[in-house]
Amino acid sequence: MALEEYAAKRSFAKTPEPPPGKVASKGGANYFCVQRHDATRLHYDFRLEIDGVLKSWAIPKGPTLDPGVRHFAAHVEDHPIEYGGFEGNIPAGNYGAGSVMLWDRGTFELLGEARGAEQLARGDLKFRLHGEKLKGDFAIVHMKGRGKGNEWLLIKKRDEFAQPGWDVEAHAYSVLSGRTQEEIARELPARESKRKTAGATDRVWESSRPARKRAAKSASAAAAAKAAPKKKVGSIRAR
Ligand code: MN
Repeated sequence: MALEEYAAKRSFAKTPEPPPGKVASKGGANYFCVQRHDATRLHYDFRLEIDGVLKSWAIPKGPTLDPGVRHFAAHVEDHPIEYGGFEGNIPAGNYGAGSVMLWDRGTFELLGEARGAEQLARGDLKFRLHGEKLKGDFAIVHMKGRGKGNEWLLIKKRDEFAQPGWDVEAHAYSVLSGRTQEEIARELPARESKRKTAGATDRVWESSRPARKRAAKSASAAAAAKAAPKKKVGSIRAR
């Protein structure tokens, strides 16, 4: 699938998201990423590089290392390879308005003989992730004959990386900047020591609550939002 739908939904003069590249990517790097997207509803966007684009699914509950749960994944439009490094704020009034965190990234290996496009077409894609947070074997499976036809399930296979009870919200920091969702929304600078602080208690505690409640409850957060140089948190979250 080409990137027309991606381009048609966006006005690149108004959003910091990357336009599709003028020359189609050759791909072949087997990049994958997950973006935590605080839009109208918080969700995670799971993306796999296949045939020069990022095949994409929106996962409300996020990916998991728990092999005992299957999380719904809505297949959405292909995104350009350049999107795989994106983190920032999509301004109010634009498609997907809200803050975008680069939550995980790495490479993947397809499992089995069939090419990625073939596995996608048959609705059963198996792969091994080498991310900073997500590791090991997964499958994403199309639920045929259901609803709108875009309903898939992301499933963690049982292997040495499987962790029953694993909580995605205990890992809510950026692998790019070390920031929390709220810090991205306020356009605060990247944390210098992201590797060391990424799993720190304060970060996990802060990120384990819904962003809106946090912002509403915290006077210091409100003050910081007012002091932020550009977009207002309130206006971004209004949609
Ligand atoms: Mn999204």
